[in-house]
Amino acid sequence: MRRITVLIILSLSCLGVRAQVDSVRVVPQNDSLAVQVDTLDRPADIGSGLQFFARGNGAPVDTLDVGDGRIQIVLKDDNTWYFIKNVSALAETDLFSQCWREHIVNPYNDTPLDSIPYRVTVCLVDSVSRFVCPHKGKVFSKFGLRKGRRHTGCDVPYPTGTPVYCAFDGRVRLAERHKGYGNLVIVRHENGLETFYGHLSRIDVIAGQWVHAGDLLGLGGSTGRSSGPHLHFETRLRGHAFDPEWIVDFENGSLRKNVFVLKRSYLSPYSKYVPTSIDEEEEIYMTDEQIRAEEERIAKERAAMKYHTIRSGDTLSGIAVKYGTTVSKICSLNQGLKPTTILSLGRKIRVK
Ligand SMILES: [Zn+2]
Repeated sequence: MRRITVLIILSLSCLGVRAQVDSVRVVPQNDSLAVQVDTLDRPADIGSGLQFFARGNGAPVDTLDVGDGRIQIVLKDDNTWYFIKNVSALAETDLFSQCWREHIVNPYNDTPLDSIPYRVTVCLVDSVSRFVCPHKGKVFSKFGLRKGRRHTGCDVPYPTGTPVYCAFDGRVRLAERHKGYGNLVIVRHENGLETFYGHLSRIDVIAGQWVHAGDLLGLGGSTGRSSGPHLHFETRLRGHAFDPEWIVDFENGSLRKNVFVLKRSYLSPYSKYVPTSIDEEEEIYMTDEQIRAEEERIAKERAAMKYHTIRSGDTLSGIAVKYGTTVSKICSLNQGLKPTTILSLGRKIRVK
């Protein structure tokens, strides 16, 4: 995508327009995704030979093809331009044509985890794509195991009727009621990810619709398996969920980074977001060897984990003695578990 942007700037340079990108905003179009780019330079800077570009009524005067045709640039007579994402070209790409099922939550069932590379570099935003936080708030239920069950997303409190916004540009793949998710919207994005928005009280989009980051997808609610109004938000790569907090800082309503290096290990149900001190550049250029070594370390750690299923008569102190550990260590391994917690039969707790 960055290469495409360079091409755009080059194309404009060829026309003698020394424009710099000042701000980018999305402009709704009926049959295309458009991004408005305002310029810093004004007609006076352009030179007398290009009066054609003098400030006018903002009417489109020309359309240029850029790169592979997925992006076009429309020049306007007021010295601004905007990008158009050519959705008919996008629809033909593998990303939007393969594993495209509009009534199945995970159409990637055949994609085994080990067929995904050790790391995948995901360009979350660039000059023609932006991010909008679906909803700002403190995550109250995180990705990972929750009372022995897998929680494939994170939950943000969300009063019923509050707008739910699309995180990135893309195409709605599924928009219907679906078991535990309740009213669910799934959007596939140009960056290769899919985002899920669950428990909505109302859905405002239909499958197949192209959407912009920031478009209204529906309203927050508590449909499906839900204990109260909240947004269940998921991020997936080829059907495999990873902790959305790797990329979204929900409290600040912002992206953590523009380029995200998704390691295969993040796609494990046990993997959780951990703030890292490793420099982003360093991560991007980590060798496969380094990533493999890290995965082996995580696998060893995981192999050492032990779980216990609560049976009649079990107490935390009894379990601690049985596994040669302490009650406080067990509590630290299980979110929300306290020495005073009443253990429900059948609950799985981590003991090592
Ligand atoms: Zn949830």
